[in-house]
Amino acid sequence: MALIVQKYGGTSVGNPDRIKNVAKRVAEYRSRGDQVVVVVSAMSGVTDNLIKLAKEIMSLPSEREMDMLLATGEQQTIALTAIALHNLGVKAVSLTGAQAGIVTDGVHTKAKIHNITPKKVHELLDQGNVVIVAGFQGETREGQITTLGRGGSDLTAIALAAALKADLCQIYTDVDGVYTADPRIVPNAKKLPEISYDEMLELASLGAKVMQSRSVEFAKKFGVVFEVRSSLNENPGTIVKEETKSMEDVVVRGVALDKNQAKVTLIGVPDKPGVAAKVFKALGDATVNVDMIVQNISHGSLQTATNTPTTDISFTTDKADLLKAQKVIDGLKKELGFNDVLTDEKIGKLSIVGVGMKSHTGVAGKMFDVLAKEGVNIGMISTSEIKISVTIDLAKGEAATRAVHAAFIG
Ligand code: ADP
Ligand code: ASP
Ligand code: MG
Repeated sequence: MALIVQKYGGTSVGNPDRIKNVAKRVAEYRSRGDQVVVVVSAMSGVTDNLIKLAKEIMSLPSEREMDMLLATGEQQTIALTAIALHNLGVKAVSLTGAQAGIVTDGVHTKAKIHNITPKKVHELLDQGNVVIVAGFQGETREGQITTLGRGGSDLTAIALAAALKADLCQIYTDVDGVYTADPRIVPNAKKLPEISYDEMLELASLGAKVMQSRSVEFAKKFGVVFEVRSSLNENPGTIVKEETKSMEDVVVRGVALDKNQAKVTLIGVPDKPGVAAKVFKALGDATVNVDMIVQNISHGSLQTATNTPTTDISFTTDKADLLKAQKVIDGLKKELGFNDVLTDEKIGKLSIVGVGMKSHTGVAGKMFDVLAKEGVNIGMISTSEIKISVTIDLAKGEAATRAVHAAFIG
């Protein structure tokens, strides 16, 4: 008898028939004698719709209230999934994140899991139930409802698999596994039989939304091997696990395009110690996630009032954090005395990822050459041992992704 954690994403529970299908699959595992914990997302579109509703009332709503609102999406699906299992004669009980013992910090809308005490889950399993847990949500020690960031049901599943020491963790979604690129953008992308945690983590944080990046980080930390597979068929999926030596033979494992980034540029910032620290500390305090940062070398232009040399600082952040970032920067204007702030939401971040880059040269040159031939201008560049990312014009993002994929993967 195995203990299995299965997570079903928004499309997989997108309508009553899909929920019935999920129940059928769960019932099959159950009939083999396995214990099953099911984590579900909100039905597809529900979370987006709730966010839209709130923003129609106020552009920057309270993050505590957003959590209260968004947590309702998953609460609908857990009950519906339990009902679908009852309909098949299978014992099942639904639990909210809090009831499942998921305790988080208090950073509303992107809370981190502190610890999980799955006592209730164990009890219900031992009584022969399938336990259905609401993804994406938890509760602080003080009893405040929190959510774990967009795509956070993946994290719920992986964290529960770790806490329950599950034998198997399966992430069911609307694609057959992790591909070399988003198959919606690159139709000839190939399904990967396996991928290392580090590559999956980079791809996920660079826009491949098939897995939430924090969930992959968690899996790596706790050694949770998991499979990403389709809820719509029986095809084997992609195994995400520790890197093996042979994985380095492939230079580029995957290509990702993030369309959800925005760029903020501060023009004419005084070029003196402590300024960048002030800007990024203030953004951090406001829980704005900053990704790429570029500061130009000062060209000797002076701030007229003080005769201090000036520079420009650009950074990228999620579009969802842009208003918050702007508010923070506006609040610093008097103190820092920069000239202007520009924002650009029409950027895409295109990245290539592969552990093989550690041992191969010329990869950046080849990528930039492909982009040049496509007539794509490169904005910011950032690299790590296993990835290269560039910001480009959003309108050219998909064509550039296909060109880069063709050059490196085929
Ligand atoms: P779920 O609702 O199941 O969590 P998501 O919509 O969050 O599903 O993630 C699945 C989607 O991720 C796919 O439909 C696909 O378009 C997209 N995706 C992006 N990059 C990749 C990739 N490299 N491999 C597979 N899917 C990808
Ligand atoms: N419903 C949440 C979202 O749309 C969490 C998830 O789907 O994983 O982001
Ligand atoms: Mg998802």
